[in-house]
Amino acid sequence: MTDDAAQPPSEMTADLETITSLAKRRGFIFPSAEIYGGFAAAYDYGPLGVEMKRNIRESWWRSMVQERDDVVGIEAAIITNPNVWVASGHVSEFTDPLVECSSCQGRFRADHIEDGRCPTCGNTGTLSQPRRFNMMLSTIVGPVADESGRAFLRPETAQGMFVNFENVQTTMRRRLPFGIAQVGKSFRNEITVKQFIFRTREFEQMEMEFFCHPDSSLEWHTYWKKERLRWYYSLGIRPQHLRLRDHRADELSHYSKATSDIEVHFPWGWGEMEGIAHRGDFDLTQHSNHSGKRLTYFDPDTNEHVVPHVVEPAAGVDRILLTLLLDAYAEEEVKGEKRVVLRLAPSVAPVTVAILPLSRNEKLDPTARRVHSILRPHFRTQWDDAQSIGRRYRRQDEVGTPLCVTVDFETIDDDAVTIRERDSMEQTRVPISGLVAALRERLDALAPVVPDIDEISV
Ligand code: ATP
Repeated sequence: MTDDAAQPPSEMTADLETITSLAKRRGFIFPSAEIYGGFAAAYDYGPLGVEMKRNIRESWWRSMVQERDDVVGIEAAIITNPNVWVASGHVSEFTDPLVECSSCQGRFRADHIEDGRCPTCGNTGTLSQPRRFNMMLSTIVGPVADESGRAFLRPETAQGMFVNFENVQTTMRRRLPFGIAQVGKSFRNEITVKQFIFRTREFEQMEMEFFCHPDSSLEWHTYWKKERLRWYYSLGIRPQHLRLRDHRADELSHYSKATSDIEVHFPWGWGEMEGIAHRGDFDLTQHSNHSGKRLTYFDPDTNEHVVPHVVEPAAGVDRILLTLLLDAYAEEEVKGEKRVVLRLAPSVAPVTVAILPLSRNEKLDPTARRVHSILRPHFRTQWDDAQSIGRRYRRQDEVGTPLCVTVDFETIDDDAVTIRERDSMEQTRVPISGLVAALRERLDALAPVVPDIDEISV
């Protein structure tokens, strides 16, 4: 599971262009402010994309916070006291190596350059020596536009958990080990932005800081590697598109005992979707030193003050969404025609049940609307009555809707409807009285089988 040789990846069916175009055509993701020509690497999520994002967040929050006794959540301010970023090291250290091409004036990240060649104009020998470029986006807070109001848009959500360590620990009466989780936007002035929503300057993170006794921190790191992989399996991402990569000693930060990435086999190669870092006591110690507040934990069993160590699983919502679209995409031939289908797990699909009245018709309408109102409280529904039924099935396949319910003229007499399944394309007639249970049963059957944590080897 940990290196290329052990697990040859299988190619994603779709390339990035196919997914970018589907995402736009079907209302998942649009270029930001497209009517003004867009804005570099900024995207706006459309009606289906926003549903999917909510599903990803909700699934993460359920598994990381609500289904656990040892993790609680917070929401910290995006723009906060700038001293936080001095203490965390971001003001001095959060830099990427920037090189500039003297021929085309392009700017690139030095570690993204291959063969010393400029990625834009292709010239060699035109790239400058790398210089350090700080990636934090800043702004001026308050009515006076001078440097005294300089503040930063957070480049990660994690520091919100460290600066609230004591507040959470004391108000929630927590004993070690315990975690603090947060979901929210982060901002980085990335030098090179390409590959659609993989790398953008504004993005959303889901991070959790797990505070534990230093003696057990490596065990917890192993635990979180397994648990986080398990979660990705629960979203239905195919295991052959995922791998866990342990950082080499020369990649580790000086304070980290171990860091592993959960990587995805994107169309351009392996890329990080989540980092699981052992951060030692670095952050709490830094904030203690800079704020003058002692950030320790008093262990009532040993009567000792300890600075907890931290294990941090940090994931990006947008990268997960991109992975889900790529991983779920399939093309197949049905009766001589191409069918595009997103085989999304019901837990992440934007719509779980589409209601399709056979035609737009006054006689059919009340019955179809009654069916919709019965289903709405139980599923993420969508009403779709435009164009032929065949085209509507294809449209729902293309956005990953697992089940369609078709209401036809017979429904008026026999109070039964047709369930059509996305993957098998099977159609079954069921009475409206048993419809909710029949749909629920089919959605449950489509849910990915998730291994027990002990079955996962890392
Ligand atoms: P990379 O090496 O790709 O720049 P990173 O190691 O700096 O990423 P982390 O600081 O570990 O990333 O952030 C945790 C997660 O946040 C990443 O795994 C990724 O999913 C997400 N993320 C980070 N930067 C971006 C970005 N610019 N756009 C979208 N998602 C991002």
